[in-house]
This record gives sequence, C-alpha cells and structure tokens, in this order.
Amino acid sequence: MFETLKPQPADKILALVQMYREDPRDTKVDLGVGVYKDATGLTPVMRAVKAAEQKIWESQDTKVYTGLAGDPAFSDVMVDLVLGDAVARGNVAAAATPGGTGAVRQAFELIQMANPDARVFVSNPTWPNHVAILGYLGIETVSYRYFDSETRGVDFDGLIEDLKTAKKGDVVLLHGCCHNPTGANLNSAEWDEVIKVLLETGATPMIDIAYQGFGDGLQEDATATRKVAAAVPECLIAASCSKNFGIYRERTGILMAISADDSATGLNQGTLSYLNRQNFSFPPDHGARIVTTILSDADLRADWQVELEEVRKSMLGLRSQLAEELQRLSGSDRFGFLAQHRGMFSRLGTTPEMVEKLRVEHGIYMVGDSRMNIAGLNAQTVPVLAKAIIDSGI
Ligand code: PMP
Repeated sequence: MFETLKPQPADKILALVQMYREDPRDTKVDLGVGVYKDATGLTPVMRAVKAAEQKIWESQDTKVYTGLAGDPAFSDVMVDLVLGDAVARGNVAAAATPGGTGAVRQAFELIQMANPDARVFVSNPTWPNHVAILGYLGIETVSYRYFDSETRGVDFDGLIEDLKTAKKGDVVLLHGCCHNPTGANLNSAEWDEVIKVLLETGATPMIDIAYQGFGDGLQEDATATRKVAAAVPECLIAASCSKNFGIYRERTGILMAISADDSATGLNQGTLSYLNRQNFSFPPDHGARIVTTILSDADLRADWQVELEEVRKSMLGLRSQLAEELQRLSGSDRFGFLAQHRGMFSRLGTTPEMVEKLRVEHGIYMVGDSRMNIAGLNAQTVPVLAKAIIDSGI
C-alpha cells in the first residue's frame, strides 16, 4: 500500500542547509536555519544547562514515567516565567509538549475539538509550520495583513481591519514577541488595540511565544502575552524553551489554556492530558527537567539570565552594526528597520530573485522570502553582507 504515498515537498530551510554545506566558498554566510549562533558560529550549550544536567545526573534515581501533562513542577515554573502574576495560577491548565511545535499542534487540535468550524487567523506572513499544521489538520486559515513591505514594519491598519472580521468561535494566532519570519512587532499601544478588537469580536487569542528573552528582555518580551491573557476570557499560549534555553533537540515546550472562570480549569487540564495521551502519551522529560532545575535554583537562574542577556545583546549589536554599515554604503536610512526589528530574524523585504542572486554571486544564504537569521552574522561578515546587498542593487 505504500506505493499510494505521494512525495511530500522538501522543507525549504533544510534544503538550504544542504546547499550551504555543499558550497565550497570559504566566504559563505549562513543566515538560513533559525538557531542562535555565537560569533564563532557555534550554538553552545548554556552554562546553566550544563550545570543543571550535572545536578540531574547526580540526583535522578528513576526514569519512570512522569504524568501525561509532564511534571507539574515544570508547568509551575513555565507559567511563572511566561505569565508572571498576570493571571491566577488556578485559571491556567498546562501540559508539557515535545517542543513549541508540539504545543502549537496540540493547541490546534484542542481548537478543533472545541469548535470544528473554527477558523484560525494567521499573520501574513507567519512561521510556515503554523500554516502547514493547520492545513494538515484541515482547519480553515484566514490570513491577516501584517508585514508592510514598504516600511518593513507592521501594517497596523490592515491588521486591525482584518482582525475585525473574526468572530466568536474563531482563533487569532499572535506571536508574543520577536515575530518569525519578519522581526517586525507591535508596540504596546498597538497591542491594546488588538485586545480591544479581540474583546469586541469575541475571538479567542492563541499566542505563540518561542523567543522570550531574545527581543527586549525576559520580562519585556512577555508583557504583551501577559496583557492579552489578563484581558480576555479565554486564551491559549504555546511556549518553546528551544531558543532561550538553547535546548533545541531536547524538544521542550508547553501549552497553556487559560480561562477567566477557574471552574473550567479542570476540564481544560483533562483535555490537554487527553491530547498528549492520544498523540504520544507522556511528553519528553529531560529538557523540561533542565528548565525546572534552572528556574527553581536562584544561582542557576541568575547565571542563565546573564547568558541569555549576552545572547540578546549580541544580536542587537549585529543589528545596529548592519544598519549602520548599510546606511554608510547606501547614504540613506532605508535599512534603519533592521535596527528596529527584534529577535533572531529580519525580513529584508526583497524578491526571491534577489535572494537567489545573493546566494549564487555572494555565497549568502537566506530563506527565499528574504528572512535573515541575524545570529548567523558576526562582526566580520556584517560588512560582507552589507556590501552584497548594495552591490546587488537591493
Ligand atoms: N513557533 C515559532 C514562531 C517558531 O519560530 C518556532 C521555532 N522555529 C517554534 C514555534 C517551535 O520551536 P520548537 O518546536 O523547536 O520548540
């Protein structure tokens, strides 16, 4: 029966990784795949992660199953990290998932269970996996205007106009911070407007937060998520620990379902556990245990925050260096948006042909929609990229 299978499209980013590997030029620059890299091109294991692993190794005396929703201690530290005291703990149901992707997937399944006719509103553009998983599950998606290709900021009027067409029973998917793939984000007043529209329409927000600590700071990056969660009657949050703890392959994430009425929490919690059971039974534990160990130990937590700040600041430094270099070479401010964007990515806002030209002629690898991983740069390659952008006539 396998002969009936149809070939699936290759993942564009992984195909780019392969092309980069095979490129013999030693001047090549990889701005493709979304992992943080330091100035030497390494994705290091964070110090606090190493220390937590050692602690776990020394003290762990069993590897028996945890619970269907993972270890409750992991939920507690993550709810605290993401939500602070924005909502009462008793109103939050939470379950560990395999990575942020697992949380996104479970969230979509929960939406489908709650309302088979739900439409999910996604930003144009959004992380391609959002659209792919929604399509796979057969959930209707509606895209709302987001990126303004002129200013390279948010098309806020377009966004509001489109979100106003959502209705009760629909879901609006928002990026909590560090929008992927554009790097363009809403400001605080704009978030307030979005909340107003959510309350007017009755649509349920779902927040995907995969880069807390990569934008304006650990607390600052959670502000919008907290504001939304506190204002609306119901909300879903999918959080990833892959980036801010650098534990990509451990597959560590969490899905939270929040209800203003705490009597709904038991039902929400039961549903999250049920969904885990149907899909993979118990969620992975090692990454979750690392995160719990770090966040519940004052010294490890402090050291993690110091290292996370170094990561954040290094990306901000690269952003300003690139914006300045482009200003010098172009004699204009038209690349100033690169310093305004936040997180690991910026969308340059050029055509796929130009992206191809940068790859073929200059050995610069970025995703076809011109998404650049800023962390793929270093002080030496910033001028190389800037020159290539100007030489290509972008
Ligand atoms: N959401 C967004 C917007 C992302 O960019 C990512 C990572 N690429 C994820 C979720 C999930 O990441 P992971 O499954 O690796 O934790």
